[in-house]
This record gives sequence, structure tokens and C-alpha cells, in this order.
Amino acid sequence: MSENIERRRFLKCLGAGSLMLAPLGCSVKEQTGQDAAPHYVMVFDQNKCVGCGGCKEACNKANNLPEGRSRVILEQQSSAVAGQACPHCGKTDCDCQRKYVRVSCQQCKNAPCVSVCPTGAAHRDPKTGIVTMDASKCAGCKYCIAACPYNARYINSETDVADNCDFCLQSKLAKGELPACVQECRYDALVFGDANDPNSYVSRLLAVKDSVRVKAHLGTEPSLRYIPIVKLGV
Ligand code: SF4
Ligand code: SF4
Ligand code: SF4
Repeated sequence: MSENIERRRFLKCLGAGSLMLAPLGCSVKEQTGQDAAPHYVMVFDQNKCVGCGGCKEACNKANNLPEGRSRVILEQQSSAVAGQACPHCGKTDCDCQRKYVRVSCQQCKNAPCVSVCPTGAAHRDPKTGIVTMDASKCAGCKYCIAACPYNARYINSETDVADNCDFCLQSKLAKGELPACVQECRYDALVFGDANDPNSYVSRLLAVKDSVRVKAHLGTEPSLRYIPIVKLGV
């Protein structure tokens, strides 16, 4: 099933023009008859990301962030050895072994940022379970930034308010749209959906693909999953 089909299902479930978040969990009930709280997850497929940066630009625009700022960073990693031929293609300047890692809020189920925030600014949205911000409550103390084991938070330089990737809860999901980076990625490296819905594309994907969570040993229970790169020809 393509991401486009999943998108149509997502939008159908929300209802055209819906501005309320309540329908976000409706797919489970609608499709299975079960009443379960949603667990929104994002999957980053390292095999598909080409490092184009479209996700970063889309995030900046959708969330009205300062120039050059995004809630997601792409870290480039390479296992290539300088001057040595690539074992896959034989070239010394290839991209075969270049890979990218998405660095963004992991949407922890046990979120240290929420626990330490003294004002309730960093909080979990009660309807969707997504970790997000109430900017009006933020004191700029940076406790959340220090507490985040994923280095995923920052202070918005224009508002002096802490910020994190909230799956575009306020900018896109509230309008019945998929997160901006997911919409933008032309290489299908990002998939978003409800992991508690057994019929969702993301559930089916995770059922057949090996995926990992970063620093799982910390007990934060991240909702961001990574499909690690599969080495070519070895
Ligand atoms: S990754 Fe960091 S900012 Fe995101 S929920 Fe976890 S502790 Fe909070
Ligand atoms: S910087 Fe803002 S969101 Fe972070 S802990 Fe302080 S008050 Fe809470
Ligand atoms: S989900 Fe939204 S807030 Fe998070 S990185 Fe993607 S575009 Fe930015």
C-alpha cells in the first residue's frame, strides 16, 4: 500500500475540513470496531533517505520557524574510507555508503522533558498522546533541553520558547493533514500513522520490517522508529 493511499485513509478518517483533534483516533474504531487510544509513530527508513533536506525546509515553513531553523536535523554518516574504492561500485567518490540519520524529538512515551518542566509548557496532548508545547507557559529555563537524552529540543531564537517536533500536531494534524516532512519527502523515507491500528500502513510496515529505537535502554519508549540501512551486495 502506498503512502498516498495511507494519506487518503488518514484524511477520510479525519473528515474533510476537520479542525478538531478528536477524530485522530477514529481509524481503530472505524476499521476494527475496537476502541483504543492512538499511538502515533513515525518511521524513518535510512535506506530511502537521500539527504535532500526537503523535510527540514517543509518543517521550517509549516511551523513558521526562524530562518534556517527546523525541528529536524539530518546527520550524515559515512563508512567509506578515504582514498579506498567502494566495495559496492568500485568508485572512490560514490554515495553508496553515505547514509543519513534523522535527529528529532523521539516522542517518548516516558518523556523526561515533560517530567522536568516546572510550568507544564512541555506537555502531552491528552487526545493524541503527542508531546508538544504550550508556548504561553514556557519560562525559557531550558530544563527540558538538559533532560532530553536525544538532544532534540532547542530554544526558538525569535520567541525564546523551547520547541520540539510534535509531529506537526498544531500546524498540520489539527487540519487533518499529515506532518509536513512526511508530505514533502519524495523518496518515501518517512511514514506516519497510528501503531495501535493494526490496519494502518505504519503497523503493516513495522510488522514486516526490522526497525530500531534509539537508546531504548533508557526506558523512554521512543515513538520514532528507524529502519537501518541494508548493506548492498554483502
Ligand atoms: S525526545 Fe526529548 S524532547 Fe522528545 S519527548 Fe523525548 S525527552 Fe522530550
Ligand atoms: S524551557 Fe520551557 S518547556 Fe522547557 S522546562 Fe523550561 S518552562 Fe518547560
Ligand atoms: S513532523 Fe512536523 S514538526 Fe516534526 S520534523 Fe516533521 S515537519 Fe517538523
